[in-house]
Amino acid sequence: MLKANRTEKEVKNLPTRIASKKSSSANKLPSIKCSSCGAEIVLVQNVKLVSEAVEAHVESHRSKIKNPIRSEAEAERIRDDLITQVFKTAGEHKFARNSKRAC
Ligand SMILES: [Zn+2]
Repeated sequence: MLKANRTEKEVKNLPTRIASKKSSSANKLPSIKCSSCGAEIVLVQNVKLVSEAVEAHVESHRSKIKNPIRSEAEAERIRDDLITQVFKTAGEHKFARNSKRAC
C-alpha cells in the first residue's frame, strides 16, 4: 500500500513535468491538453501511468471545488474530456502497439 502511494505521487509529477519543458520537437511522445486549464499530460507508453496521471489531474480539479455535487460533476467532465483525448491521440500515434502486460 505504501509503495502504491509513492508511485502515485511520482506519477502525479512525472508526465506534467515533462510537458512543461516546452520541448515539443525534442519530445516525441504525444500529449493531451486539459480543455479547462490547459495543462498537458504526456502519453507515455504505459497505460497505467497515463490513467493515473489523468486521475491525478481530475483530482486536482475536483479539489478546487468545495461543493461536493459540483466537484463530482466537474471531475466527471474533466475525466471524460481527457480520456476521450487519450483514445483519440493514442489512435493517431498507434500508441498501444508496444504495450506489455505487467500483470
Ligand atoms: Zn485541468
